Amino acid sequence: MKIRIVGAGPAGLYFAALMKRHDPSHDIVIFERNPRDATWGFGVVFSDRALEFLRADDEELYHYLTPHLENWPEITVARNDTRIPIAGNGFASIGRLELLTLLYEYVEKLGVEIRFETEVSNFQELGPADLIIAANGVSSWIRSENEKKLGTTTDIRPNKFIWYGTTKAFNSLTLTFRETDKGVFCAHHYRYRPDMSTFLVEVAEDTWHRAGFDSMSPEDTIAYCERVFATELEGHPIISNHSYWRNFPVIWNENWGFDNVVLMGDALRTAHFSIGSGTRLAMEDAVALFKAFREKGNDVAAARDKFRDLRLPPMRKIWEAANASIKWYERMDELVPAMSPVELAYSYMTRTGRVSREDMRRIDPELAAAYEALSTDT
Ligand SMILES: Cc1cc2nc3c(=O)[nH]c(=O)nc-3n(C[C@H](O)[C@H](O)[C@H](O)COP(=O)(O)OP(=O)(O)OC[C@H]3O[C@@H](n4cnc5c(N)ncnc54)[C@H](O)[C@@H]3O)c2cc1C
Repeated sequence: MKIRIVGAGPAGLYFAALMKRHDPSHDIVIFERNPRDATWGFGVVFSDRALEFLRADDEELYHYLTPHLENWPEITVARNDTRIPIAGNGFASIGRLELLTLLYEYVEKLGVEIRFETEVSNFQELGPADLIIAANGVSSWIRSENEKKLGTTTDIRPNKFIWYGTTKAFNSLTLTFRETDKGVFCAHHYRYRPDMSTFLVEVAEDTWHRAGFDSMSPEDTIAYCERVFATELEGHPIISNHSYWRNFPVIWNENWGFDNVVLMGDALRTAHFSIGSGTRLAMEDAVALFKAFREKGNDVAAARDKFRDLRLPPMRKIWEAANASIKWYERMDELVPAMSPVELAYSYMTRTGRVSREDMRRIDPELAAAYEALSTDT
């Protein structure tokens, strides 16, 4: 098959790898607008569960990637200066650039061509193709120009977030909530290299306005966030990489393509970063789409239907959990002042509705007991 892929993110790269590895006669070209060594953002995380899925689907890639991951066995929820470690939540992390570089090398060795610095703005630029993959991320023009056909819904959420890094190496994935006179600030921070961590700051829209971020320079914004999180940063700087305040768009498509086009990854649907699953979902899409083509041969419409059958149930579950998680963060100005650190940690763990009281007793008996003691006290 002549396969043309728009976007060399985790979705497009991994799909290319699986197809080419299975059948080297496929002619696959990936078009990527960025240069090879450019990327936005810092590190991405995978839960232990996500890695187990990868291992089950693709042992070879699992062993290729895992030596490059930073691991930690627990997460921490901090309310001001009180830190509550939560057991039973293993995570691993890797720099986005490092992950992409590993995948570039992997697909190129298989014989896939990646054309960097090549922005595609219409289908003609791709030349003739049996299959076109829209893996061009959250702002995909292929999706936005075909919303009617695809049944696209986009829900822009009100919280503001900004994706920074820092040279402070944190020991666990931590969510720090700090109360200030302008409202609650949340930092999602985790090490992704021995000397670097992601440091994502999130605030409610009202807090953002009260703090004056709408008219603040990038330098003053960094200085402000460094002051709020001075205790966590211990003198280390916050580092920007094209960092700017964003609102999270919750995207869904009823139809997953048209003609010879298939959507995957963030172009297909987004899942909030607070459940750390965007990269995992993109890679699981690739596995499912590959399996669909393996079964249906060159019949794009049949493979797309099969892809939807395989992916919809598990994907919808994670997407719904991610949406419940978004709403929890949107209530942080109300929740954080009203809760003790233990209550906040417990509320965080049960925020998506997928972790029950029984689950909590199993995952972290100490936290469950501390929480239950508080509930019986009151
Ligand atoms: C702030 C933030 C934090 C995140 N944290 C995590 C996390 O901790 N864990 C996690 O798993 N996920 C995280 N994610 C999500 C994750 O980055 C994405 O879900 C994942 O990268 C999606 O993969 P993708 O391949 O679909 O799209 P992308 O990774 O976005 O790749 C799309 C590619 O297409 C290219 N492109 C776009 N348009 C064109 C065009 N017209 N022509 C050519 N090329 C084009 C882009 O340059 C890009 O390289 C986070 C996202 C954000 C915004």
